[in-house]
Amino acid sequence: MPEGHTIHRLSKDLRSDLGASVVKATSPQGRFAHGAALINKKTLATSEAWGKHLFLTFSGETILHIHLGLIGKFRPQALEHEPSDTVRLRLEGSRAWHLTGPQKCALIPKEEYLGVIDGLGPDPLRRGSKWEDFASGLTNRKTPIAISLLDQSIIAGVGNVYRAEFLFLLGIHPERPSCDLTKTELQDLWKLSVSQLRQGVRLNRIVTVDQIDSGTTPGRLKPQDALYVYKREGQPCRRCGSSIRVAKLAGRSCWWCDRCQRR
Ligand SMILES: [Zn+2]
Repeated sequence: MPEGHTIHRLSKDLRSDLGASVVKATSPQGRFAHGAALINKKTLATSEAWGKHLFLTFSGETILHIHLGLIGKFRPQALEHEPSDTVRLRLEGSRAWHLTGPQKCALIPKEEYLGVIDGLGPDPLRRGSKWEDFASGLTNRKTPIAISLLDQSIIAGVGNVYRAEFLFLLGIHPERPSCDLTKTELQDLWKLSVSQLRQGVRLNRIVTVDQIDSGTTPGRLKPQDALYVYKREGQPCRRCGSSIRVAKLAGRSCWWCDRCQRR
């Protein structure tokens, strides 16, 4: 599933591609034909990301809500690229953007937009988000920290890759109860979220392995060298050599190193 950095990057790229002129909107698949017709020939007023939610507001306060879910993709194409019949929405500006397989693609009223935002925890990529709000969401929660980090009402934009990597980087065992984390650990977790998600937007992918461990800059790392624990079960830890572990936590696999992340 795309994590917050992907959606923020999308928001930025869509703004620069579609922001200046009238947008042509169609639904090659047909499932969003009515909505596309309502957006067609309007201008994009704002494009914003809140966690994993993307909101495009067109002239006349028409709000398009997109959530990519598990398999959704929203990708740029050359204007002459013919859309396939799986494309739910095609937007044309200086490039074409093809949306496929989204969990949500709908025009929504302002109240619904406000409701979605209201239900989200602080987003590390949004200015004004506070670590105190993140910390207060975890007070009295006995839930393992790895589960809390996927709860979008606690912190918006973190997904399965980042949560495993953050906990490794800070030496926190995924099963530790959320309320047991110290103030310093919570501050570090927030600071790391901010810096890692920012790097994710810049690189347009997740790279957590740092220069000290890899000997090269994050942008140059190959995909198989970019992460510490995610999907590396059975492989040696990049720091201590122990075998990386995996277990299901609330239905989602989580990876960690038993030696680097103490209970
Ligand atoms: Zn280790």
